[in-house]
Amino acid sequence: AKSDLWKVSGHWDFYRESMFSPMAIDGQEYLAKPMNCPFHVLMFKSRARSYRELPFRWAELGTVYRYEKSGVLHGITRARGFTQDDAHIYCTKEQMVGELDSLLTFVLNLLRDYGLNEFYLELSTKNEEKFVGEDADWAEATEALRKAATAQNLELVLDEGGAAFYGPKIDFHIRDSLRRSWQCGTIQLDFSMPERFGLEYNDSDGTKKTPVMIHRALLGSMERFIGILIEHYAGFLPLWLSPIQVKVLSITDKFLP
Ligand code: ZN
Repeated sequence: AKSDLWKVSGHWDFYRESMFSPMAIDGQEYLAKPMNCPFHVLMFKSRARSYRELPFRWAELGTVYRYEKSGVLHGITRARGFTQDDAHIYCTKEQMVGELDSLLTFVLNLLRDYGLNEFYLELSTKNEEKFVGEDADWAEATEALRKAATAQNLELVLDEGGAAFYGPKIDFHIRDSLRRSWQCGTIQLDFSMPERFGLEYNDSDGTKKTPVMIHRALLGSMERFIGILIEHYAGFLPLWLSPIQVKVLSITDKFLP
């Protein structure tokens, strides 16, 4: 339901205009939730935070709703309601590079566990016309992402100027057994939301500082990921993933009863 935080941040009006129509229930206005981020922001803000608590990592299987055009809906790979394995990491600027590095390793190991071995990374860099935050922070964050990606020895595709205004990001693209490419997880730096929502922590020198926020999804939409796996394995899922792992079939009349 509409809260003061949503009003202050301007998110309510944004979602109201661009997402599903609001519903009135007992005189109260409700919207379908399109993303999880603002709620993790609220949790961070629920009390004073110290530098000792950072990095702060919150993960959630969060169900979200987006008004996709009917023409782009496609089975379970693109639906209007889906569940993301979403997380937000709040850290200091000094911790940023280490966090990005361990996140990247985490995502890639997870994908490999599912038997997906062919992927490439796409790095989206600053759009010079449209961005918030300091140039130095952008440069450092982009370089951190590039370094972490290069360390994995994977193909890295540059999307120059393709980042959203709030920070650079890395997307994971999987190639399935038919060489089709699917976008799954993402790691995204955010210089905007912590500022806009007035997030802060008490640093060791007693001053208040704004944390860096990292958005990350590992598999992305769970429904979509299951769709990709079914396509990739043409329905023959690995034993440990298969809903029916073993069937016993008798072959002589003796066992008919
Ligand atoms: Zn987020």
